[in-house]
Amino acid sequence: MPKVPAVILNNGVEMPRLGFGVWQVPDRRARKAVATALEAGYRSIDTAAVYGNEKGTGKALAASGLPREELFVTTKLWNSDQGYDSALRALDTSLGKLGLDYVDLYLIHWPQPARDAYPETWRAFERIAADGRARAIGVSNFQPAHLDRLIDGSGVVPAVNQIELHPRLPQAELREQHARHGIATEAWSPLGQGKGLLDNPLIARIAARHGRTPAQVVLRWHLQLGNVVIPKSVTPSRIRENIDVFDFELPAADMAELAGLDDGTRLGPHPDRVG
Ligand code: NDP
Repeated sequence: MPKVPAVILNNGVEMPRLGFGVWQVPDRRARKAVATALEAGYRSIDTAAVYGNEKGTGKALAASGLPREELFVTTKLWNSDQGYDSALRALDTSLGKLGLDYVDLYLIHWPQPARDAYPETWRAFERIAADGRARAIGVSNFQPAHLDRLIDGSGVVPAVNQIELHPRLPQAELREQHARHGIATEAWSPLGQGKGLLDNPLIARIAARHGRTPAQVVLRWHLQLGNVVIPKSVTPSRIRENIDVFDFELPAADMAELAGLDDGTRLGPHPDRVG
């Protein structure tokens, strides 16, 4: 079984560099998908309140028999729960559904700049961390200005910023800012949501050269940039394929060719416009 290396977050907590994403996996299918991922060696699971599959995810975690300390569970606070008291309550609800006493990572899902509640939400997150109900706290979809505001206002640097990131949107500016502050970069839609990106002829050529699949090449590209990745699949063979990426390396020439795929394409909305 592949052994997934860890990144050490800015509070000393270890997070697997590759995990399993469950967006768009219906709750009734989450149990099986997560169970397959755990059998394949994944120990990090990325869910969110809004995915509606915390219950199915929690059932798979419980049924696995794996010790809690070997698992790394991330969930996210949904937009309608931003604010101090509502954030504390939202975590209670998520923990209840997951069947857990704590999560490993709790993220603010979107900054919602027009609403401007994220600094107050972050105060609740600080309390959540102090109470041990999340081992690490972070954000998702934060732009440079939102990160600056959070850090300047609270002095507490998020452990992680989970952002849309794939070869067509490599997010150089954010990655550079993260590196300066010691924030781990976590890539969502790391495979560009599969179709399209994985059919790209350049990626196919590089994959053929290494005797690997396009998805494996893209995941290697991420890992070599220093990103944490959370590919999603409900297909058992792909779930196994996506974790089997720790025994080969892309040479600098391949990395340079892949850098040429940057065309700024976003699959999701721009974070400034999610309100
Ligand atoms: P991914 O980039 O992980 O791609 C998933 C798609 O690719 C699925 O359609 C899957 O198909 C297909 N796929 C997976 N592996 C392979 C493979 N080896 N070969 C060919 N096709 C493959 O997209 P997601 O958008 O799901 O992103 C991953 C995770 O990131 C999410 O599940 C979620 O946890 C997180 N996320 C967070 C967001 C945020 O705002 N914070 C926003 C979006 C995602 P199939 O399942 O049919 O096998």
